[in-house]
Amino acid sequence: LGPTIVVGEILVEIMARTRGVGFLEPIDLIGPFPSGAPAIFIDQCAKIGGAAGIIASVGDDDFGRLNVERLRRDGADVSAISVSPDYPTGSAFVRYRADGSRDFVYNIAKSAAGLLALTADAKAMIARAGHLHVMGTALAIPEVWAILDHAIGIIKGRGGSISLDPNLRKELLGGQTEERFARLIDVADLLLPSGDELFVAGKADGEAAATAALFGRAVTEIALKRGEGGSTFFGADGSRIDCQAFAVDEVDPTGAGDCFGGAYVASRRLGMPAAMALEYANAAGARNVAVLGPMEGAGSRRELDAFIATTPRHGV
Ligand code: ATP
Repeated sequence: LGPTIVVGEILVEIMARTRGVGFLEPIDLIGPFPSGAPAIFIDQCAKIGGAAGIIASVGDDDFGRLNVERLRRDGADVSAISVSPDYPTGSAFVRYRADGSRDFVYNIAKSAAGLLALTADAKAMIARAGHLHVMGTALAIPEVWAILDHAIGIIKGRGGSISLDPNLRKELLGGQTEERFARLIDVADLLLPSGDELFVAGKADGEAAATAALFGRAVTEIALKRGEGGSTFFGADGSRIDCQAFAVDEVDPTGAGDCFGGAYVASRRLGMPAAMALEYANAAGARNVAVLGPMEGAGSRRELDAFIATTPRHGV
């Protein structure tokens, strides 16, 4: 029907090379790496072979060009990425504490990332899209919501589909964001929750009750992310498929969920059965946590096939 599209921030990430050091004195940094959850999602989507495009904004600088060139090289449609003459590309500095948790310094508020608008190129991309992927965090940003609101009506109107990664953070629950979330739950065909987000989205405790509540709406399938526990598919017909995670050394957890989502959505839209899509999604998530950089582990179908063939699984 048309490409999978996503709307949201593009930025670069610059990382501390070693764990357990802070930014209070000069440290070894590595980067810039292309980043931003929507960018990671769409890069993996395109790399596996799905038609994919992104509506975003970057600055007229090398950080912006780095992102646009990476996405273009990996096969994504970059025609709706606008270039701001006035604001720089957003950036984030990340360091890992000794326990593996992350600490960020963001330069996003006054960057091009916040300048999203329904440009003529964005409208044209929406008009030819067959699928819209929405991230829960986008619902709190007025500029992004305005574009999503427009896109939902058009894409659903022409028989397209919608996926939602709830990404439910406490600060997102309440007020307008919660109303927007409820609206999305009513139109989303596919949900990609992580852990407890399934219960929050289904407003019920326990998998059976939460999935039943969601299948009472537009949702026809759920791909639940479980980190090192792998993932589970739930179908509206009561089917369930569990997929064990691949055993890798986690170097950098950033982007696992977005790579999982990009691989899953693209695989399903390429016509693969759920079990196969889940396998590719698990591989994409695992491959990405095994390398430094938010989207450096995103894989082509050939790379993911090789990874699946050579990597052992947890619990096997
Ligand atoms: P994030 O928000 O940090 O990007 P998420 O919570 O949305 O992540 P996860 O469940 O952490 O998503 O990761 C998505 C998928 O990636 C998992 O279902 C799993 O298949 C794979 N994965 C993630 N972490 C690991 C790991 N340490 N080892 C193996 N596979 C992993």
